[in-house]
Amino acid sequence: MTDTIVGRGASRGGALFRDWFQELSQASESGRQTAYVFVMGSLGEVLRAFDLLPVFPEINSLQTAVRRVAHDFLARAEDYGYSPDICGYVKADVAVQLSDGEHPMGRIPKPSLAIATNACNTYIKWAEIWERMHHCPVFTLDVPGSRSAGFDEPPGSPGFERDRRYVQRQIEELIGLCQSITGRELSLESLKKTLAHTNEMSRCWKEVIALNRCRPACFDALTEGTVYLGVLNAMRGTEQGATYFRELLEEMQYRAEHHLGTPHQEKYRLMFLGVPCYPLFRRFHEMFSEWGGSFVSSTYLWFAAAGMDAGFQYDLDRPLESLAEGVLLSLRRAMDSMFFPSEAILRVADEFSLDGVVFHPIKSCRTVSTGLADIRRDVMERCDLPSLTIESDMMDRRVVSEAQLKNRIDAFFEGLASRRLRAVGKE
Ligand code: SF4
Repeated sequence: MTDTIVGRGASRGGALFRDWFQELSQASESGRQTAYVFVMGSLGEVLRAFDLLPVFPEINSLQTAVRRVAHDFLARAEDYGYSPDICGYVKADVAVQLSDGEHPMGRIPKPSLAIATNACNTYIKWAEIWERMHHCPVFTLDVPGSRSAGFDEPPGSPGFERDRRYVQRQIEELIGLCQSITGRELSLESLKKTLAHTNEMSRCWKEVIALNRCRPACFDALTEGTVYLGVLNAMRGTEQGATYFRELLEEMQYRAEHHLGTPHQEKYRLMFLGVPCYPLFRRFHEMFSEWGGSFVSSTYLWFAAAGMDAGFQYDLDRPLESLAEGVLLSLRRAMDSMFFPSEAILRVADEFSLDGVVFHPIKSCRTVSTGLADIRRDVMERCDLPSLTIESDMMDRRVVSEAQLKNRIDAFFEGLASRRLRAVGKE
């Protein structure tokens, strides 16, 4: 059983991903209608109900970095006139668009529609690029976020109901747009099916994340977690996605029951804040795992999952109202995990028995990175937990220094080791 179940999520996730890129290439040839979307607020359930294939340019860009060819794409966009300063995902995508969709994993189809949300400012400007290049309609979903840390307007309160209705009207507008683009009416039965699949994925994702409380942790949030996130986004609202996450949960339950953790021995339990360093993805992780550091939790698993970590369950008896409620709650949660994560970090520190927190601001992503220094100071004032700040990028190798990262990481672990020794000495 161990041979067949352990690692199944990672290998099947990779295979599903390759199939998905195949599907994108086929769509590019056949002219199947697609929608360009973002991971935070893809509205995949609505799109799938219209048989519009979602395309995630953020994921396409990320893949160029993992495959170590991002610099070619960044250079092409910079030659075209984009500043080295802006989000690397945007530039890699611009280069893909300029190359008629050519991508290391297939050919990216052109969009019939683009959907942006206010979860990231860059989304709005990025979607304008597609509008100019492809003359496609752009739909911007404005989701009211938390007005401050600890903002509390729960479902049922007048404020929440106002925000929910605001989101629902926008979703109804999007449905009208999808109807005019595809020439078909929305089938409520199809929508309920996609919502049911997402329910299953959310339920399992919440449980998978919670299982990492065990010792050793079942999976590494940075490496394996990124594969699971990819499937969560790309397959959202599909039967394949639901089956994958049911099986992933089964794998994690097995690993927890049999104390099967990550391949390296877990000595220090860490939380990661920010976006991973994709240009050095393996090596970056090794710099921690060589010391026995395991990432048992990460805000990336929350915001890049568009808040699906909350496990929200759509009520299929009132699909539109419930979809609006789910989008509002989940996206608000995703934004909170980028802008106001202090309370959540303190909770994870306790529940997941953390030994330290790693803050990783990156040049490209100001949305996630800007507040990290303040968040670190806030958390450190409220708990006695070692922390490390290291800077790099998720795309641009020119600003990633392996030697500097290693120095900082080694010093961090030396500090953790001596802290542990001091703690033993006091017993
Ligand atoms: S700025 Fe950050 S959140 Fe926004 S598109 Fe770029 S990587 Fe994504």
